[in-house]
Amino acid sequence: MTLAGRPFYDARLDPAGGTATWTLDDLCEFAAEVGDPYGGRLTGGPFDPAAERLPPFSLQLEAGEPPVWVGLDGGELAQWATALERLLARWGVTAGDTVGFYEYGSSPLVLLSAGSYVPGLGRGATDRLGADMFCNDGMGNMALRMAEAIRVVRPSAMVVRADVAAPLTEALEMSGVWLPDVLRWAAITVPDGAPFPGDVARWSERWGLPVRRILRADAAFLLAGDCDACGLFHIDADCYDLEPLPDGEVAVTTGFATTTPAVRYNLGLAERMAPGCPEEPGAPRLRWL
Ligand SMILES: [Zn+2]
Repeated sequence: MTLAGRPFYDARLDPAGGTATWTLDDLCEFAAEVGDPYGGRLTGGPFDPAAERLPPFSLQLEAGEPPVWVGLDGGELAQWATALERLLARWGVTAGDTVGFYEYGSSPLVLLSAGSYVPGLGRGATDRLGADMFCNDGMGNMALRMAEAIRVVRPSAMVVRADVAAPLTEALEMSGVWLPDVLRWAAITVPDGAPFPGDVARWSERWGLPVRRILRADAAFLLAGDCDACGLFHIDADCYDLEPLPDGEVAVTTGFATTTPAVRYNLGLAERMAPGCPEEPGAPRLRWL
């Protein structure tokens, strides 16, 4: 994989010979500037629909207008799904479990879960664990349907978008569903970054069960979950390389991303922590601020 010939990276050459760090805003601005929904990350110049250089799979990021896409092939999809599979496995998802998602169907968390959603993925994260999943679309007005799905399907765990946690809470009360009777844990996700620890603590108290945090940077294909034992995000070393930056920020480079490479994506204020968690002694860890 080379970065040369990819307009986004050509424009970000570092005097040291590498590429400068970048953020989602940088990508969106560049995409608007050059009129390329892939933000100039495809090889061979800006995307040209007439030239039929479409990647096998494209996903639109939740990043405003104009739309910004990432591109992948089947191998990249499978490895991104591996990050989700490991996240769910660390949180105890195993054969026979069902994970309920109250999140948009276009979210990578949903798409990477089950092979039935995405042609070319093969087995998704829950498929590989021998688990099942369902998705209730992540709109606030679907909260009653989610409460009903929890009551009827009885998932072992659920993943909820932060912005529908409040309507879901009301719906659960209206439906008489007490989550600890059904779930082992819930997890909160936001489209970019991680939910605030204080918000998660509030939902954990309100719902009466452990609530986990998901860290996402969809533009860089990063997925990580926090750890009950150490409170930090465990990172898959064979998928992601973390790099501390001088001003207290951390950049990630995603090894498997080759169609729209993610090299030195700036995660913002964070701290790369040494491995050493008793639950997973070898895992690199990240404190995300
Ligand atoms: Zn840990």
